[in-house]
Amino acid sequence: MFKRVIKYSNKHFSLFKSIEDITDLRQKPQISSADISTSILSILLSNLGSLNRFNQARNISSVGNIAGRIPSTSTVARSADTIDLNRLREILKSIYLKAKRSKMTQPFNGRYIGIIDGHEICSSDLHRCSLCSVRNVSKIEGVVKLNYYHKYTAFILAGQKFAFMLDIEPIYPLEGETTSALRLLDRVCINYPKAFEAVAGDGLYLNGATFGLLESHHKYTIAVLKDETRELYTEALALSKTTKPLVYEDEGITYRAWDHTISGLWDGYNKPVRTVRSEETKTVRHHCQELGKWDVQEERAEWMWVTNLPPVVDLKNIISACHSRWQIENKCFNEIVSTWNADHVYRHSGNAISAFMLFLFIALNIFNIFFARNIKDKRIRSKTLLIDLIKAEYLLARWVRPIPV
Ligand SMILES: [Zn+2]
Repeated sequence: MFKRVIKYSNKHFSLFKSIEDITDLRQKPQISSADISTSILSILLSNLGSLNRFNQARNISSVGNIAGRIPSTSTVARSADTIDLNRLREILKSIYLKAKRSKMTQPFNGRYIGIIDGHEICSSDLHRCSLCSVRNVSKIEGVVKLNYYHKYTAFILAGQKFAFMLDIEPIYPLEGETTSALRLLDRVCINYPKAFEAVAGDGLYLNGATFGLLESHHKYTIAVLKDETRELYTEALALSKTTKPLVYEDEGITYRAWDHTISGLWDGYNKPVRTVRSEETKTVRHHCQELGKWDVQEERAEWMWVTNLPPVVDLKNIISACHSRWQIENKCFNEIVSTWNADHVYRHSGNAISAFMLFLFIALNIFNIFFARNIKDKRIRSKTLLIDLIKAEYLLARWVRPIPV
């Protein structure tokens, strides 16, 4: 299966051709950045989880490093310290463009929505670098116990079967998520001008700077409204109490939804905005203590959002777009940590952490497309089984070059 996924990457995305011109700043390197990038992609695609496992896998190979092109773990680490992140972003973009042209990506419920959020990638009480953020985690008064961590903002495209990972940006020490997010949003709007029409974010993104920046790139914004002290919140709530909701059902959930256009209540953004409120009810069954019987419970949730999407986008569509925001939790952050070991620090330096994350995005986009479109064997239903099959073949391969095919 490892050979199949590599072949697929080359056939559809020219992956290993596109990494040939990757560079790093090592002086007189014996092993090229391209060979190192090949090794990194192999490590990630076969989900080895650490450079140590890579070292062990290298030793299992009965042929060994006869061509002198398979890097040691320390060479991989040193290269990652200075590898060119912009080139990695260009490769991500070329994969996206090819996937879009070949209709391998699909919109989410008919709309192309970008999602942004911040996430902590790793933390340690011991290991740190010059770009670590730091916090006091002591539970004892007067005692200082420091914890070092890295955070970043990520941008993905919501999709029907899978989300497409587009870019990340570090949140540097002493800066807030919004500062990093504005850099990231500006870059993805320039690099992907036609990839999405609106961007969804949590309550942190309900600020004039985000709405203004995206508007300057001709994009709309959707942000969660949960701050009860905001005038927008009280006004939207009051208006919904005096008007009839739109009531509809979708995939077992009953929606009661309100949509109001409000002007003049938000200093940060001077134009009218739509506030959307949605009460959502679904019936869920739990196993009852009595064998073979079920407990039936009603679950209710309530949401409010603010958006500048135009009136032509109807309320049902807006609510679907708002909920696509969960994909960054479920299909990005949770999945890359639980399935792909993304919280493992392969090399602790600011550049290396970003590089491994961008390499992981490259590998995951291809893997997700491969899983959705190329696996016809009905027994391979889960990604974890597919990963196991890829890993097994990789571990047993005879290596003479960085890529054992
Ligand atoms: Zn650090």
